[in-house]
Amino acid sequence: MKYHNITKADMLNGEGLRVVLWVSGCSHHCHACQNAMTWDPNDGLLFDDIAKKEIFDELEKDWCSGITLSGGDPLFLGNRDAISKLVKEIREKFPNKTIWLYTGYTWEELLEQKDNDKNLDTILNNIDVLLDGRFVLRLASEKIHYVGSSNQCIIDVPLSLKKNKKVLYIDNSKILEGVV
Ligand code: SF4
Repeated sequence: MKYHNITKADMLNGEGLRVVLWVSGCSHHCHACQNAMTWDPNDGLLFDDIAKKEIFDELEKDWCSGITLSGGDPLFLGNRDAISKLVKEIREKFPNKTIWLYTGYTWEELLEQKDNDKNLDTILNNIDVLLDGRFVLRLASEKIHYVGSSNQCIIDVPLSLKKNKKVLYIDNSKILEGVV
């Protein structure tokens, strides 16, 4: 897997102060994507042990709430093997830190793929929050939390898997309706 950047003390891509891994590779090619430079899976730096240590050193810090995996798409097919190993290791080494993951796939698409993809199954069973779906320019809003367009959901993954239905971690629709 290749990656473009590791950013630290990030406040925009999840709750608290987070380390963010920006991976290469995305097959969705959404119109007006702000990260089109990350689409090519062969571009960027090799995600090696040095890069992993850089992330783990951040996660060791008390103020670091956890990691956000973004890109690109961490669930791009060519990334799933490396991401499944990474989230498993983070979960074991840092059980108190949260793992958020952005993907262009929808929750429903991932559920369809899950039973035939061990890596995806491992990923979904080790992350806390999934931010799903392609970016849709006509649904873009600056009011909503953590995602770019209102079709994208912020999903509580452990609860959704347990209840066998999509459970939102943050409900942006209330913000758009002016309820909160
Ligand atoms: S899924 Fe994300 S990174 Fe991929 S094209 Fe859409 S907005 Fe860009």
